Amino acid sequence: MALDSKIPSGPIEKKWYNHKFNLKLVNPSNRRKYHIIVVGTGLAGGAAAATLGEMGYNVTAFCYQDSARRAHSIAAQGGINAAKNYRNDGDSVYRLFYDTVKGGDYRAREANVYRLAELSNNIIDQCVAQGVPFAREYGGYLDNRSFGGAQVSRTFYARGQTGQQLLLGAYSSLSRQVAEGTVTVHGRHEMLDVVIIDGKSRGVIVRDMVTGEIKSFAADAVVLATGGYGNVYYLSTNAKGCNTTAIWRAHKKGAFFGNPCFVQIHPTCIPVSGEHQSKLTLMSESLRNDGRVWVPVKKGDTRKPKDIPEAERDYYLERRYPSFGNLVPRDVASRAAKQVCDEGRGVGTSKMAVYLDFADAIKRQGKARIEEKYGNLFDMYQEITDENPYELPMRIYPAIHYTMGGLWVDYNLMTTIPGLFAGGEANFSDHGANRLGASALMQGLADGYFVLPSTVSGYLGSTELKKVTTDAPEFKVAEKEVKDRITKLLSVKGKYSVDHYHKKLGKIMWDYVGMSRNEAGLKSAITEIRALREDFWKNVRVLGEGEELNQSLEKAGRVADFLELGELLASDALNRRESCGGHFREESQTEDNEAKRDDENFSYVSAWEYKGDGVEPELHKEELTFEHCKPSQRSYK
Ligand SMILES: Cc1cc2nc3c(=O)[nH]c(=O)nc-3n(C[C@H](O)[C@H](O)[C@H](O)COP(=O)(O)OP(=O)(O)OC[C@H]3O[C@@H](n4cnc5c(N)ncnc54)[C@H](O)[C@@H]3O)c2cc1C
Repeated sequence: MALDSKIPSGPIEKKWYNHKFNLKLVNPSNRRKYHIIVVGTGLAGGAAAATLGEMGYNVTAFCYQDSARRAHSIAAQGGINAAKNYRNDGDSVYRLFYDTVKGGDYRAREANVYRLAELSNNIIDQCVAQGVPFAREYGGYLDNRSFGGAQVSRTFYARGQTGQQLLLGAYSSLSRQVAEGTVTVHGRHEMLDVVIIDGKSRGVIVRDMVTGEIKSFAADAVVLATGGYGNVYYLSTNAKGCNTTAIWRAHKKGAFFGNPCFVQIHPTCIPVSGEHQSKLTLMSESLRNDGRVWVPVKKGDTRKPKDIPEAERDYYLERRYPSFGNLVPRDVASRAAKQVCDEGRGVGTSKMAVYLDFADAIKRQGKARIEEKYGNLFDMYQEITDENPYELPMRIYPAIHYTMGGLWVDYNLMTTIPGLFAGGEANFSDHGANRLGASALMQGLADGYFVLPSTVSGYLGSTELKKVTTDAPEFKVAEKEVKDRITKLLSVKGKYSVDHYHKKLGKIMWDYVGMSRNEAGLKSAITEIRALREDFWKNVRVLGEGEELNQSLEKAGRVADFLELGELLASDALNRRESCGGHFREESQTEDNEAKRDDENFSYVSAWEYKGDGVEPELHKEELTFEHCKPSQRSYK
């Protein structure tokens, strides 16, 4: 099957404008006749469901949390980018576009990224109109701060709780539509399969997580906005519930998976503290506006930070990257932290940490100002580590945070299954091989508020859809497959817990498919994951029954999917014998240990087609062309 990205022709700044004009419309009075399913109520799904509902479509939304407003987006801390240029510091739509393509190491589609930058400004207007309480300057204007990979201040924020405030905005809009009767939200429902009829996506199979009942829902189009798959690594900054099930099942039904190996490792997380930890905590990138990253110059220095004089400290980011300093992009900062720790200059008991120090900023701006900007993050740090970051530098280390990979989508955000769309972190996205800070919220909301409402309408307006009900045989077959799988999981009755397998998978992924990857390690990862998967299906013990609230069963289904995705992720990383962004192949580095791309051979999006269990997936390539941002060795010096 040939990949068609459907990028519109014409000048880049006119592509979206013209495309929207060319998309077919659905007459307002006909909209209520169409049924759209949106799986996911985070920023992408919540915004899409609310907007499609407002347009008059009949929308059914699902999430696995008890309330739509508990989606993982609520955890986002630092901010959301937009090219408003309020600071008059040289920002523009073009600069945001350029920074994003460069930040992604030239592995994203120019047309999509330009649209994203263009829509960024509409997002801020939309959210302000909803009453999102963005931070403001003294004069009342919206305030901005800086994030990595940019030399301008374009990040809008609400203290360290930006995701929460934005989600409350989207949730308010969603609630309005629920009251209007255009949207129905089913909380505590987990989607376990998509149903394809005549080659088109026509519905989903879900499990009621309270009663265990398996239910079918038919629709004219389905949107997956189910978030990222970072938890394939077990430890990550993601909420514990984040998983790959929805997109993995769609993949197995024919949706190609784009760039699975593009995973973001965030440089500033609270370091791992022991074997029994189940999750990691992010310290927002916004902290690098004021915090200075350093380690001792001397290896194995065990002195307390305050006893190490200035001359014996290495502010290695400022030293190596004088132009961007502490605000280099995440992939660059993460690798640099790993390097200094590998050299034996790490700090703390594990020696796998570096300092993020606010002493200078507190001296310059006062404690009250720092508290105003980052108070909740400092409190969180203190609660977790029992150290006071106003007095001692924070200890931080990189951790899995975000997934740039996801379902392959065309310019309309439609997957390779007609009628199945993917938005937000669930699609392979606009971020190439590395996402810039504060750009995930921007992408999720651009997809949800602006792109999907137009493109889903375009699909409905131009596609002949026969009437389908859940009595169709395809629904019955899919329901049976879902039930059989649950029975299979429950009947293994082995001796190891689901977490036992998840932790083992996470360790393989982190050791071989983490911050640094090489051919031998990736081959070992594939062998070890296959063996672990086989063992899982022989020896896992899933407690309880199917027809009840059963968290052990929920986890088991998700881990079973991670065990398959993990292998694809490693295979993609093995195939990509170049370094780019967060994908660092040791065999491909510059003299200064920076990622070295191979544009001649790898300037493409990898889109994997599932060919059956135990059969090698087929790699399709979407070649990338760059008309505006000419690929060059990324430099932040
Ligand atoms: C700690 C942290 C801080 C962050 N801070 C920032 C930041 O400051 N700025 C920024 O730009 N980005 C940030 N990010 C990234 C950003 O928060 C996410 O990428 C973004 O919120 C994802 O939104 P989403 O709508 O795609 O998915 P999510 O918010 O993850 O929502 C997924 C939805 O899908 C539902 N779902 C999933 N699977 C199923 C299923 N099988 N069946 C039914 N429902 C399902 C869930 O219930 C949920 O409603 C941060 C991420 C983390 C982890």
